[in-house]
Amino acid sequence: MATTPETTAIPIARPLIGSEERAAVLRVLDSGQLAQGPEVAAFEHEFAAFLGVRHAVAVANGTAALHVALLAHGIGPGDEVITTPFTFVASANAILYVGARPVFVDIDPKSYNLDPTLVERALTSRTRALLPVYLYGNPWGADAYAEIAARDGLALVEDACQAHGALRQGRIVGTFGTACFSFYPTKNMTTAEGGMITTNDDAVADRARVLRQHGARHTYEHEVLGYNYRMTEIQAAIGRVQLGRLAEWTARRRANARYYDVHLRSVATPVEDAGDRHVYHQYTVRVPEALGRDALRARLRAGGIGTSVHYPRPVHQQPLYRGLGYADRLPVAEQASCEVLSLPVWPGLAEGDLARIVAVLEDA
Ligand SMILES: *Cc1c(COP(=O)(O)O)cnc(C)c1O
Repeated sequence: MATTPETTAIPIARPLIGSEERAAVLRVLDSGQLAQGPEVAAFEHEFAAFLGVRHAVAVANGTAALHVALLAHGIGPGDEVITTPFTFVASANAILYVGARPVFVDIDPKSYNLDPTLVERALTSRTRALLPVYLYGNPWGADAYAEIAARDGLALVEDACQAHGALRQGRIVGTFGTACFSFYPTKNMTTAEGGMITTNDDAVADRARVLRQHGARHTYEHEVLGYNYRMTEIQAAIGRVQLGRLAEWTARRRANARYYDVHLRSVATPVEDAGDRHVYHQYTVRVPEALGRDALRARLRAGGIGTSVHYPRPVHQQPLYRGLGYADRLPVAEQASCEVLSLPVWPGLAEGDLARIVAVLEDA
């Protein structure tokens, strides 16, 4: 991409769709088979190989992946699932879908992921699963969550919707437990809408496959209450091309992040543990409250720079959850929601864009 002229707006994110994706879509349209067929099977096979897991099950979106993953682990009414309040609402809503109770635990202030020490303190006789999120693409904590889950006999459902290809101490996320990925347009790779469940557990994979198509293993024989969560052939065909480009895009996201790390002076930049690979779904800085995040955001907007706040209100403080009686105080998450600011980091940015963003931000 050419250097963006001074006047051009820089969006917070933009999907990269090229001629290969176009050709793949046309191939499917001409094939006569539009829903869950050979493209979906091939995408599952390739995604499983990418992670090095036994099974990948494609579904309609990341939220459906979370819903099906919890059901496939037998989570339901009376069960408690420990999760983070500092995430997109889908992580917790999936727990409500299955009739279980989300238990919100505060986050680690540096990585913004669930604090493992607090997770241990929140365990009760009803805890059945952990549902951590690798926020912004940071794999921090994956090993600790897996250790707690194994020791206490809990299901581990990794919300890896922002963390395609992230490594925790050399191990790829999505292999620590049963994992859920999203292919929404702004994610690190897209199928427009789409999701994937990955697992090494044969029984979980089998149940997930049945649940995503109305509880049927054989046509018109419905074993359990299932859903229509199928992926289309069009989505899968796009996903296969995108998966092939993911490594290069991740390298560019990381290079963009490195540029910010080196050049930003006035705000706290993200952390990455030695031995980890953060995939920077978002590059999220922390603006001290005294500096005023929202004023800074306005200055960037005036300079044509798109930003976003992920997330302005923690899940436990959303009206839905307040209405369900949640009144927890989770100070680390609450403070973070007032201070975080995501800057453009997507792989189509030019070096000139990065320099301009840094200049406007430091000037403000
Ligand atoms: C995007 C996202 C989801 C939901 O994925 P969809 O494909 O939009 O349904 C869930 N959890 C997190 C953390 C996400 O970022």
